[in-house]
Formats: sequence, structure tokens, C-alpha cells
Amino acid sequence: VALGGAPATRQVKLERECELRIEVAPDTPLRLRLLTGTAEIFGTEIAPEIWLTFPPRLKFAVFTWYGATIEMDGNTETDYTADETPMISYVNVHAVLEGRRNRAKASPSDVDLSQGPRVIVVGPTDSGKSTLSRMLLSWAAKQGWKPTFVDLDIGQGSITSPGCIAATPIEMPIDPVEGIPLEMPLVYFYGHTTPSVNADLYKVLVKELAQILERQFSGNAESRAAGMVINTMGWIEGVGYELLLQAIDTLNANVVLVLGQEKLCSMLKDVLKSKPNVDVVKLQKSGGVVSRNVKVRQRARSYRIREYFYGIANDLSPHSNIANFNDLSVYKIGGGPQAPRSALPIGAEPVADPTRLVPVTINRDLLHLILAVSFAKEPDQIISSNVAGFIYITDIDIQRKKITYIAPSAGELPSRCKLCMIPVRMVQGVLR
Ligand code: ATP
Repeated sequence: VALGGAPATRQVKLERECELRIEVAPDTPLRLRLLTGTAEIFGTEIAPEIWLTFPPRLKFAVFTWYGATIEMDGNTETDYTADETPMISYVNVHAVLEGRRNRAKASPSDVDLSQGPRVIVVGPTDSGKSTLSRMLLSWAAKQGWKPTFVDLDIGQGSITSPGCIAATPIEMPIDPVEGIPLEMPLVYFYGHTTPSVNADLYKVLVKELAQILERQFSGNAESRAAGMVINTMGWIEGVGYELLLQAIDTLNANVVLVLGQEKLCSMLKDVLKSKPNVDVVKLQKSGGVVSRNVKVRQRARSYRIREYFYGIANDLSPHSNIANFNDLSVYKIGGGPQAPRSALPIGAEPVADPTRLVPVTINRDLLHLILAVSFAKEPDQIISSNVAGFIYITDIDIQRKKITYIAPSAGELPSRCKLCMIPVRMVQGVLR
């Protein structure tokens, strides 16, 4: 330890099948490199000698199959070595999936046989679902496959901004620092971070996403054989469980990996026994998975939104734009005006249509909200359209009828109608 308590550069020797678990300090980044041997971070091999810089608060593990020496420079909140990990069981799953991909590739013209594994990862919050999804994708990509990653987690998703479900092909092992590359993901905007706000809308969006993916697969034998890895939410009770079953069904999952919960596993085995082509497999949760409380989750969401506009290392500069109120049509979905009581049969209670499109008047309530910019050309296409990206409203001038917003890139918003949707106020203050 150097003067002042700051740790100097230090080395850690890892034995075979061990991992170094790290939580980066809250305010300063950590530099790390591989000195000897081979090691990977969540399925992606790290190159020897090259320093990698990890942002504050990141939690990750460096795992080695055959032994390695790691050098660290900077502070950590915690770092320790673990010799007990579920990695062997995870890589065994990968090997089985690999076999199925090869079988699928060998029969490109057979509708059923040409379909590679469609893996869905389920389990309670903080069971390591996103991490396992990432490993399976990176291991597959390393072997030359281009599996599709589908992220149904609207709270802590890793493809784009929170509040969305999304899919994207993974063509290379996922970068341990940069995460999933944002090249044209297919994104549907739900606008809330819990599905219970409008579970019907969530179901509709999963269906839309599934339909588009199905269409893409039918024209692309390579991605069909590579299959998909689907990450889900940690909400597994009540409506959450119902949504899981819907996702398994709608996306035609044929491998269900259950992390860390016996009860969920046996429930799923029970309901899915009528589908002999669906395998339900229980996997152990890693002791390295870090639990996050509500506050930490909220903060993580805010950082992800910040990252969308400013980049992980603050290396992007979003563009500020000014538009007239007339240039923008803003809508929200669900919760709109209900049918008047007089229009209903006697005794019936009015119910809000969960997928009804409601126009939103532009006023100062929109300040500091994130809006999704839809590809839809007409309002009635909004629900079935994916989104091009997001804007953040920084000023509203009622007198001049001008709206100022930041967007990741300069220029016109994509659709001519400039339809936006309004989510809950989830990030107020973060971007200012
Ligand atoms: P959620 O239900 O919120 O989506 P999850 O089940 O997907 O959570 P992960 O996001 O995979 O859980 O893991 C939670 C946190 O623990 C993440 O920050 C992840 O980087 C970290 N983590 C996972 N595995 C390890 C490990 N072996 N060592 C250190 N950190 C880990």
C-alpha cells in the first residue's frame, strides 16, 4: 500500500478455474491487465498485456480456465478470489447449445431442424441472468456464430435505454467495458420500468418483437441456426410469472435455464411438460452475483440513460436541437380517457384501454423527460413500430412554442410525423 492508503499497482495470481471478483470504487476507474496465462470476463477473453479501464462501480469477475496473473492499478470497493464458481456447468450448457447449432446448420432446408437453440434465462432478481446470457452469447460468437440477443428486462436491460425491450445480433464476444454494440438494435418502447404498470402493453410489444424476429429468421439460415439467448426480468411471481410463460410461448423458446430457484424450476417443469421439445434446466447461481437494492437499481437506470447520450466514458457529445411545437406529436400509450359511463351498460365500470394511444399536449410537464422517437409514419402504427432512438427534453418555451431537446446525433428526427411517446418521469435531474 502506497503512502496515503492508496493502493499501488498489485498483482493477483489465479489458479485454474478460479475467478477474481471486483467491485470498482465509487469515484475512480480501475485499470487492469492480464500478465500471464489466459482469462476471460463474462465469456470474453482478455488480450495479454493491454490495460483495460473499468468505470466506477462496475461489478465483474475475471475468470481463468487454466491459471493467470492479473495486475490491477487503482482502487476497488472490494476484490477477492473465489475458487468455487458454477462456470463448468455454464460451459457445459454452452457445449450442448453448440451441438444443437451444428445440427441446425446441417439441415438448412428443414423448417424445424434448421432452428437452433432458443434459450431463455429466468430467475429471481440478482441471480445472474444478464451475466449468464452474456457468457452464452460471447462463447457462441467466439466460435463464429451470430446469435440474437433478446432482452426483455425493462428495468435493467443491457441493449439500450431502460423502459424498452430489444433484440440485436451478437457478432463478436461482448466487450467487457463497452457492453453490447448499438448497431441498429430492434427496440420497442414500453416507457415504464415495471411491467405491472401496463402488463397488456408489455405482452403486445413482446408479440411484435417476436413477429419481426421470426420474419428475420425465416430469411436468414445462419442466424436461425445460431438461435437466440433471451434475458428476462427478475419478477417471477403473479403477473411476472404469467409474463414469463407468455415470453416462452411467444418466442418459441426451447431451452429454459432457471437460475437459483427450485420452486420456479419445478413450476416451469410442470407447466411445460406438455411441450416435449422444451427443456427446463436448473443452474446454480454464482456466489459472485452482487445484490442491488431499489436505490442502486434506480441509479443504475439513470446511468444507463446518461450513457445513451454521453457514452460510457463521457466520450460522446449529444446535440442540442430546437423544434417548434408543431414539428412534434407526442403520445402516450394506455391510461387515457375512458369511455364515458353513459356509453356503458348499466353497472359496468369504465376500464382504461391499455393499448390506447393518447395524444399529449406539449407543456412544461414534459421538461426533463425522455421521449422515444418512433419509426411510425402514422399515429396508429406507433404500437407496432420499433423506435429509432431517444431524445431528452431540456427546455420548453411556451410563449415562443419552442422545444429544446438533446439527441445522440444531429439532424432531423427520423419519421416525418415525429411521433414521440412519453414514459414515466424516471430520470429527472440526471442529465442536467
Ligand atoms: P436483474 O434481475 O436485476 O436483471 P440479474 O439476475 O440479471 O439481475 P446480473 O445483472 O447478471 O443479475 O448480476 C448482478 C450484478 O452482479 C451485476 O452487476 C454483475 O456484473 C455482477 N456479477 C455477476 N456475476 C458476478 C461474478 N461472478 N463476480 C462479480 N460480479 C458478478
